[in-house]
Amino acid sequence: MTPRLFVQAGLATGTVLPLPADQGHYLRTVLRLSAGAELALFNGRDGEWRATITAAGRAGVEVTPVCRTQEQAAGPDIWLLFAPLKRSPIDFVAQKVTELGADVLWPVITRHTAVRRVNLRRLRSNTVEAAEQSGRLTVPEVREPTALADVLGQWPDGRVLFFCDEPGAGGPARPAFAAAAGRPAGLLVGPEGGFARDELDAVGNRADVCRVSLGPRILRADTAALAALACWQALAGSWTDAPWAPKT
Ligand code: SAH
Repeated sequence: MTPRLFVQAGLATGTVLPLPADQGHYLRTVLRLSAGAELALFNGRDGEWRATITAAGRAGVEVTPVCRTQEQAAGPDIWLLFAPLKRSPIDFVAQKVTELGADVLWPVITRHTAVRRVNLRRLRSNTVEAAEQSGRLTVPEVREPTALADVLGQWPDGRVLFFCDEPGAGGPARPAFAAAAGRPAGLLVGPEGGFARDELDAVGNRADVCRVSLGPRILRADTAALAALACWQALAGSWTDAPWAPKT
């Protein structure tokens, strides 16, 4: 399989790009590639490019874009907001929601959030790896952890916030997601301890918040995040049309 790397630099034909040490190490030492080998590059702005390794030595690895193979395209506008979890489930959530197409990952601190320290570097590197592997053309933005009240205070106009609530409290997710097809949206999943009464009261009467239920069972927070995003993609996002299907 051709390696696929996310880079920061602009991509244009013939521009030599020296790679950071970790990516150079990956190509040269882990994959044992040398000058002349092909790879794919993307940077979130210039589409996807076919490139070749033009230098691979102890001094570093350089790659040179050859031609664009895919135009940059915007994905569905969906944010995932979640109370931070322990190390292994938060890594899992970061990887999986990147594969599932989340645009923004936003850790939200709620009253019952047990884990308050978030390793943003690790979260970001998980999203980069998952973006490289899944073929997407962007890497999701990972935001600083923010208190729920501040998230609500700065919530942008026109974006609907789906508040995933314990079983039975919200309306069913399916019609709510379907009704919001085409609208920018966010999905909020709470901590293992659930939301506090006053947090529920604070969102209760906002016009831009929609409380949704993901069925009668209590899901772990990581399960709820993936279930909500998959369901939203199917009803309102990029599983509803097929721009990738072969043209007839
Ligand atoms: N302790 C809580 C459960 C928290 S589960 C309780 O007993 O109710 C962690 C988070 O996952 C919740 O805050 C909610 O955002 C989400 N979640 C879990 N099950 C859900 C469901 N059936 N519908 C919608 N959201 C759910």
